[in-house]
Amino acid sequence: MRYSGLRVLYEGLRGNRGWTPAWRDPAPRPDYDIVIIGGGGHGLSTAYYLARNHGLRNIAVLEKGYLGGGNVGRNTTIVRANYFLPGNSEFYSHSLKLWEGLESDLNYNVMHSQRGLINLFHSDGQRDAFARRGNAMVNQGDDAILLDREGVRELLPYLDYEQTRFPIYGGLFHPRGGTARHDAVAWGYARGADRLGVDLIQNCEVTGIDVENGRVTGVQTTRGAIRAGKVAMIAAGRSGQVAAMAGMRLPVESHVLQAFVTEGLKPCIDHVISFGMGHFYISQSDKGGLVFGGDLDFYASYAARGNLPMVEHVMEAGMTLMPMIGRARVLRSWGGIMDMTPDGSPIIDRTHIEGLYLNCGWNYGGFKAVPASGWCMAHLMATDQPHEVARRFRLDRFATGHLLDEEGTGSQHNLH
Ligand SMILES: Cc1cc2nc3c(=O)[nH]c(=O)nc-3n(C[C@H](O)[C@H](O)[C@H](O)COP(=O)(O)OP(=O)(O)OC[C@H]3O[C@@H](n4cnc5c(N)ncnc54)[C@H](O)[C@@H]3O)c2cc1C
Repeated sequence: MRYSGLRVLYEGLRGNRGWTPAWRDPAPRPDYDIVIIGGGGHGLSTAYYLARNHGLRNIAVLEKGYLGGGNVGRNTTIVRANYFLPGNSEFYSHSLKLWEGLESDLNYNVMHSQRGLINLFHSDGQRDAFARRGNAMVNQGDDAILLDREGVRELLPYLDYEQTRFPIYGGLFHPRGGTARHDAVAWGYARGADRLGVDLIQNCEVTGIDVENGRVTGVQTTRGAIRAGKVAMIAAGRSGQVAAMAGMRLPVESHVLQAFVTEGLKPCIDHVISFGMGHFYISQSDKGGLVFGGDLDFYASYAARGNLPMVEHVMEAGMTLMPMIGRARVLRSWGGIMDMTPDGSPIIDRTHIEGLYLNCGWNYGGFKAVPASGWCMAHLMATDQPHEVARRFRLDRFATGHLLDEEGTGSQHNLH
């Protein structure tokens, strides 16, 4: 069924009796050309682009829980292309362009809102760093405007400009940055893949990866064995565990990241804002809740919930930047499991096992990458060649030393 305004009107007049499920619920078949482990944003977009761009249809996505129940439905929804280093810069630029056409491509409202992102700076040194980043973004063909203090005040009058501890010097404005409704992105890709014939199989946990003579032959699951010519491991925070099923040890640590939402308020924050002197960033959801988050909890864990010290840190940073937030009541907090790499950049690559592919290492920034990650992973799986914009996301860079250390924080997973 195609979605449109006319369809909404038509169904509304008929008592909404004509809507059909957005995707099928098939039983797993014993064999597929391609099996994708993980029904998050990246697994679903890979399946979609394998079918859409490469005409491959005999594909199954195996999800141990429900579609969108992982990080793709837990993030703070920020979409941007403001990376600095060659390798990351062209990839996220490509992703943002895909975001801009995503809704018409998927025929699905993912509520992509280019409301603009402002990264604040609080010192001369930080201003220089953001000026360089802005130049890199403009060179890449993206948009960046360096604002001084008064320029920021015009857009964000409610920040505390009088505080002496972290005075606001200005901000790097990225007008095409913004947000999208996270779970709608999972649903949109799921529906798109399903319409092209991909089987989406929920409640199907992969428990083993079959390898014979250096070649992958299929997977073991809680719903039986499935043979496959190619298998993709796209399990985000669980990547280390899934790869271990094939005898691989990944350069990835899993860490918890928390987020928070307040009660619904009238529109008051029009942009996405990130504080430069404490880990705090915020936007307002379309329902009115202030959605905000901070840094990792700084210990490795598979628990999708966090601890109080980081809650305190985030609240303090929020109060420092915009004291008005103290009047809002926090409704919920939650956590997600982040697949942290030593250099903070992702991996999209083949493995030493023929037919087995890896997509992981999205750290806490993989939501904005969902379109380009699926696009490039599909290209890799269909052609066995890396896509031009993802060619630096190699697994062996940790052995060869060709790291993509975007934040310049060195090889500590927990610092990225
Ligand atoms: C609090 C928070 C805030 C964030 N904010 C942002 C942000 O603002 N912007 C941004 O760009 N990114 C953000 N991120 C990061 C982003 O959400 C992730 O990098 C991205 O969603 C990870 O990829 P995914 O969607 O494929 O992961 P997931 O949705 O986690 O998908 C992986 C799937 O694999 C499944 N799986 C695991 N093991 C198995 C198995 N053995 N068998 C079958 N299935 C399996 C899991 O159940 C899961 O559904 C944030 C993350 C969190 C937690």
